[in-house]
Amino acid sequence: MRKKIVAGNWKMNKNLSETEVLLSELKTKLGASKEANIIVAPTFTNLYKATQDLKGSSITVAAQNMHQADNGAFTGEISADMLKNIGVETVILGHSERRAYFGETDALLADKVNTALKHGMKVIFCFGEELQDRKSNSHFSVVENQLKNVLFHIKEEHWKNIVLAYEPVWAIGTGETASPDQAQEMHAFIRNTIANAFTPSIADEVSILYGGSVKPNNAEEIFAKPDVDGGLIGGAALDASSFEAIANAI
Ligand code: 13P
Repeated sequence: MRKKIVAGNWKMNKNLSETEVLLSELKTKLGASKEANIIVAPTFTNLYKATQDLKGSSITVAAQNMHQADNGAFTGEISADMLKNIGVETVILGHSERRAYFGETDALLADKVNTALKHGMKVIFCFGEELQDRKSNSHFSVVENQLKNVLFHIKEEHWKNIVLAYEPVWAIGTGETASPDQAQEMHAFIRNTIANAFTPSIADEVSILYGGSVKPNNAEEIFAKPDVDGGLIGGAALDASSFEAIANAI
């Protein structure tokens, strides 16, 4: 049985005091959640505090990014060891905002994935097509290439540390979601692509999250689809009641 996961990507939101408030609300509301694995990804400066505040709950903490080198002269960057050393075992890689605003390419992301896996971290790998790709009916090939370029070289045994997050760029922060049928169609395609490149059992075990304007009023119908194993939530993860409602829709 693959894992159900609801993860909140807080992006560049919430300072330390705001983080403390949200974490405390989430711990009360979702700290004993059994239906889904709940993950929160605050910004770097608040990760350590998050790991401390969430002790004793089942909520885990992820970073939003990581550098590909083990250490060295990379001003402003954060390494896998630094994350693991403060109790952060999961990292989000490949978010479309990292690709669009910080020039992250598939080649760079392959390096980052390798480094994270080498350090025994779990990776939530984000990918998804842009609007023009969908309009020109190339969304399947775009997604297939992203998977191929970043993940097809990894060892079979490493798939247990990979979570996939399909996030169509046109649905992120726009209020426009993929319909449940569009999400299911793409998730089934992704699973099939993994089955062909690796094995059916790897494909069957990997959790595939949907991300892009998931809200309390649409989460249930998206999560009801057989190949949608949860969500990666942006805006609605910044409010404890909204995130709770989405997590409970699983
Ligand atoms: P929104 O839920 O705000 O559309 O963001 C989705 C996202 O980018 C999660 O990583």
